[in-house]
Amino acid sequence: MEKHASKRRIGLMGGTFDPIHFGHLVTAEEARVQFSLERVIFIPNRHPPLKDPREVTDPEHRYLMTVLATVGNPYFTVSRIEIDRPGPSYTIDTLRAFLQIYPDADLFFITGADALLQILRGMWHGARELLQMCQFIAASRPGYILDREQLERNNLTGNDLRNVHAMTIPALAISSTDIRERVRQGRPIKYLVPEPVEDYIFKHGLYRPKAAGEGEGG
Ligand code: ATP
Ligand code: MG
Repeated sequence: MEKHASKRRIGLMGGTFDPIHFGHLVTAEEARVQFSLERVIFIPNRHPPLKDPREVTDPEHRYLMTVLATVGNPYFTVSRIEIDRPGPSYTIDTLRAFLQIYPDADLFFITGADALLQILRGMWHGARELLQMCQFIAASRPGYILDREQLERNNLTGNDLRNVHAMTIPALAISSTDIRERVRQGRPIKYLVPEPVEDYIFKHGLYRPKAAGEGEGG
């Protein structure tokens, strides 16, 4: 047995996943391979602090879609930590919890370019401390520039960016916003989300305009 085995490297992929789509899955898988992560834990949030709670789908639906989307990948798991924690889902609280669970691991928080730029601009709760707590992997995303100069220019936290790693992925101009819009308009979402997620959306009537008198559904 190696006495000083190298540290475990664990990826954390937070998001609203409303719904989860192939952009999220490609990002997580590329991060896993490019950064030699032993696994990636998806963390759907309960209440995204920067989104209007009335505009976000029931957390249990989003959690289940995340499970459906990730079952086929032996390196992916889903955590309920934010789903089960009341109040706004601050990433800093989640990281503190994971640092306790895995005190000896290197944690890698995986984001898209848009989310990383929000953190650097100080829009996330405890952004400054957050950047010191773990490594960050920021994936390229159509519409956002991710070069070092852009990161430095947007960095209002006072941290240096030693923990921030930019990662180029095959560009997928997919967003949950666009998928919700497509469902609302009756346009296809096939090949944008995994098939079981597509089935789940239609089975539960998610993202359709509610007819008058129709309840919350479920
Ligand atoms: P919405 O349009 O509702 O904001 P989204 O598609 O941005 O949804 P989120 O759940 O907000 O999805 O994103 C979770 C994380 O995944 C964020 O860090 C985001 O930057 C990243 N991400 C989402 N879509 C992509 C994509 N197509 N390419 C790379 N990263 C992505
Ligand atoms: Mg988003």
